[in-house]
Amino acid sequence: MGILSSKLAAVKPSQTKAMTALAANLRAQGRNIITLSQGEPDFDTPANIKQAAIAAIEAGHTKYTAVAGIEALREAIVTKFQRENGLNFTADQITVGCGAKQLLFNALMASLDKGDEVAFATPCWVSYPEMIKLAGGTPVGLATHIDDSFILQPDVLRKALTPRTKWLMLNSPSNPTGAVYTRKDLEALAEVLRDYPDVWILSDDIYEHLVYGDAEFATLAAVAPDLAPRTLTVNGVSKAYAMTGWRVGYAAGPLELIKAMNTVQGQSTSHTSAISQYAAVEALLGDQSFLTNFRNAFEARRDLVVGLLNDIPGFECRLPDGAFYVFVACQKLLGSNTPNGQRLETDMDFAMYLLEEAGVAVVPGSGFLADGFIRISYAASEDELTTACDAISEAVHKLS
Ligand code: PLP
Repeated sequence: MGILSSKLAAVKPSQTKAMTALAANLRAQGRNIITLSQGEPDFDTPANIKQAAIAAIEAGHTKYTAVAGIEALREAIVTKFQRENGLNFTADQITVGCGAKQLLFNALMASLDKGDEVAFATPCWVSYPEMIKLAGGTPVGLATHIDDSFILQPDVLRKALTPRTKWLMLNSPSNPTGAVYTRKDLEALAEVLRDYPDVWILSDDIYEHLVYGDAEFATLAAVAPDLAPRTLTVNGVSKAYAMTGWRVGYAAGPLELIKAMNTVQGQSTSHTSAISQYAAVEALLGDQSFLTNFRNAFEARRDLVVGLLNDIPGFECRLPDGAFYVFVACQKLLGSNTPNGQRLETDMDFAMYLLEEAGVAVVPGSGFLADGFIRISYAASEDELTTACDAISEAVHKLS
């Protein structure tokens, strides 16, 4: 009998983290590598937020907190939901954890029995299927297509729902496609969900503040208030406030579920760092003006990268409305040969070729359950992005 549990056998490590680690290894060997595989803003955490953390340390807020998070943070989150989403929660309907990731995990752990199905649109964030499996559930990917701007279509949802479906997970803006669901898109999905009263909705809104052009953020509990009693809304400070390492995410929803999620957390991590929680209060209630600065910088980078990539023969890249990723179709390049005579069979081969030849780390689409694509994160400086796209173009031109 081995040491590892059988449930882990089916769970894959994150490809995003694997590519980033490979890039770091090559860099340690002296290679000049540009890492566009990581989902992390390159901006520094704003100074007022750092100061709030320093003040928390000096005030002695360095002890255990309530499992659900400090009262001041849960009140700040109540205010955020009212101010930005028109959603009304009480503080006990809020729970705080180590990033949105942990809240998603807590929700799945608290709700899934073996064989329960969890549906989500693909391409999807690498962690959804693996977390669902860890929690004992069965992941059910629902394909979306570039021609539908990667938006889940209501008929596809209807066909996929079964008596075992416990959750539909929504993610807008989406990682990896950058798709943003309009109010109309969400209303169409809500219409289907009304026929399935046992299906709950998990709305992962972590990229809420990163929407561009005319696109507007919308969230299901606000678009369809009649579904709010079976919706969990998950968000966090990582992406909007450049606070990935502080590990603060939060979830809001029906009390029964929140209490069960607190039980999961109370028997695992207890809570996220007390200091980070004080910093998050400042993030949510302090100056919000830099959100627009971050957003504008990302939008300019998006336009730059999409322009450069669409000039590369064999690439097809739609202009994403949100997040900080471009999801590039590269099927036309699969089957071609590298200068060393290696045939590129899969998007993984292609991503490895770009790492070796161009010195650029990207993530293969297969990691997001979408073969024939690569995901490029544009959370990097315009200079780095231009250098990276030029190097990718040069590498692609060497293929035959
Ligand atoms: N949800 C999606 C779709 C993400 O891409 C990420 C991070 O990459 C997260 C959730 C988790 O964010 P965090 O745990 O840093 O709050």
